[in-house]
Amino acid sequence: MSELILGSCRVRLIHAGIHWWDAGTFFGVVPKTMWSKRMQPDALNRLRFAFNCCIVETGRHTILIETGAGNRLSAMELSRMNMPEQLPALPDLLAAEGVDPQRIDIVINTHLHFDHCGGNTLERDGGFVPAFPRARYLSQRGEWEHAHERHPRDLVSYRSSNYDPLVESGQMELLTGDSELLPGIELEVTPGHNRDIMIVKVRSEGETFCFLSDMVPTAHHVKPTWIAAVDLYPLTAIDTKTRVLSQAAAENWWCAYAHDADTSFSRIHQENGKLEAVECRA
Ligand SMILES: [Zn+2]
Repeated sequence: MSELILGSCRVRLIHAGIHWWDAGTFFGVVPKTMWSKRMQPDALNRLRFAFNCCIVETGRHTILIETGAGNRLSAMELSRMNMPEQLPALPDLLAAEGVDPQRIDIVINTHLHFDHCGGNTLERDGGFVPAFPRARYLSQRGEWEHAHERHPRDLVSYRSSNYDPLVESGQMELLTGDSELLPGIELEVTPGHNRDIMIVKVRSEGETFCFLSDMVPTAHHVKPTWIAAVDLYPLTAIDTKTRVLSQAAAENWWCAYAHDADTSFSRIHQENGKLEAVECRA
């Protein structure tokens, strides 16, 4: 766990599981000769990543951004990702990291891919219950509708048990477009990885933190043209990243990434049009 004090807020980054995933998925058209200077693959050409969650404490609210991949992955999936056979439920994992899960009153899913909302629910008596019973859950309506389209390109990324029970009970609120969740906490739709993915911005006492989600899965992906192969709209992704990261550089934001296992927080530097992660904190 790594921590950032941002004005009157405390931001903590927690790895909800370390996993190994195919390098081609993350680096797309970027040649191995380039990315391998930064990350070392294993014998199966997999790289080490994390399912990152963020806890934002404002004093009045405890916000959880993303819930990882959860603990319902199959033995085959776990072995494919080189993960342990038994994974803890997210509330237990958070408690072990010193976060009281009972305090969480808002859960944000930037999008509904299983590795961002898998810990939303727990399996109980053949059904599904909220892992954070007190919390209001939030995601985008367009993303939820897309999940239900079951398009062959990305249906593998969606598991309805992670969100439908919460939508049905009214515990998950589906947003339409950008939203100011609370004073200083903004959700912005940033198309590219998919159509309705959001980033989360936290502003406090003149400082800004941004959870970049899969728009920038690791600090290496700050380069605008380093786009994951799974991004549905690569040209849009480049434009969105360039716009948001230029603002991050100009305003000296702290940023966090959805899948970086090494860098918890960094700032963004821009020079001669080039963007890179700097001041990287483990
Ligand atoms: Zn995703």
